[in-house]
Amino acid sequence: MSLLVFIEETNTGAPAQVGLEILTKVRDRGDVHVAYAGTGGDEVWATLGAFGASEVHHIPIAEDVLGTAAAAKAVADLAAQLSPDLILAGATYDGRDVAGRLSAITGRSVLANATDLSFDGGVTVTNEVFGGTKMVRSTFTGDAGIVLVRPKAFAAEAGEASTPTVSTLEVPEVGHAGSASITGRHVEAAEGPKLEEAAIVVAGGRGLGDAEKFELVERLASQLGGATGATRAIVDAGWVPYAKQVGQTGKTVKPDIYIALGISGAMQHLVGMKDAGTIIAINKDEEAPIFSVADLGIVGDVHQVVPKLIEALESR
Ligand code: FAD
Repeated sequence: MSLLVFIEETNTGAPAQVGLEILTKVRDRGDVHVAYAGTGGDEVWATLGAFGASEVHHIPIAEDVLGTAAAAKAVADLAAQLSPDLILAGATYDGRDVAGRLSAITGRSVLANATDLSFDGGVTVTNEVFGGTKMVRSTFTGDAGIVLVRPKAFAAEAGEASTPTVSTLEVPEVGHAGSASITGRHVEAAEGPKLEEAAIVVAGGRGLGDAEKFELVERLASQLGGATGATRAIVDAGWVPYAKQVGQTGKTVKPDIYIALGISGAMQHLVGMKDAGTIIAINKDEEAPIFSVADLGIVGDVHQVVPKLIEALESR
């Protein structure tokens, strides 16, 4: 089987993490070609090789160019040449943009938001619909298509070190579609581990009462060396920035421990955290849906329970 994986470079000059997750999943399935958009370099090629790329086709998009239109055209040209059985990309902003354009250029269908892939007698793609309440398994009819894989669907694990063959492609001319440029980048200042990567996440919801009480979430997370997360309710209320939102329209997290403080457990929130190793919930309503996914639950007032928890941790 021949597979073509589109991976974009992040602001830090590394391959997007979801790209490495996809490579880990598919590397034993045949020839794995990577179309890599970004500056690249020896360190990047070594990383892609260790995660399973046999050939890397480098699309040298300049840093100050919004390059998804050109990247999509380059991947389409590559697909015409390689005729891969499947094209994959991460469900990131760039991955989605490229997949949509690629579908329009090549006529291949897109299956979006994949949470699993199986390769028994063809490719079967699993995705979640209706806020994660239903799982749908789909296969392509006709020409194999494009799959957009959700971040954290698979673990990223490097295999043996190996050096892929690297070739550099011309960045295609795409007219006005390629004329948008990046005029500035803003990196949000953050302390502690990143939400998507943290082993422990402490998240807060509307049950905290007001914006100032998010401090309880921050203090508990700091004691545990974890990251802080939030529900959409408190993001929409302006208590915390969108970057902290966990759920269907926020981030998907898979920490070892997820602690939910004053969170009801709406399906749109659960879909972003239900695969955490151990879920601990504190909510004053014993009927709150969060308890249906919790491994440990405390029915109680966050303003009474959490300060005691912090006190106990601080005195250790
Ligand atoms: P609430 O539902 O108001 O729950 C507050 C909880 O706190 C209650 O269970 C209450 O019993 C408890 N509580 C109150 N006081 C205390 C106290 N003193 N101590 C302990 N517990 C207390 N939501 C997300 O989170 N992420 C998403 O990505 C997301 N995407 C969405 C997409 C769409 C299209 C839609 C329609 C909705 C989306 N939502 C999302 C919103 C979601 O449906 C819920 O409205 C939201 O998750 C509720 O947030 P909450 O649990 O903080 O608030």
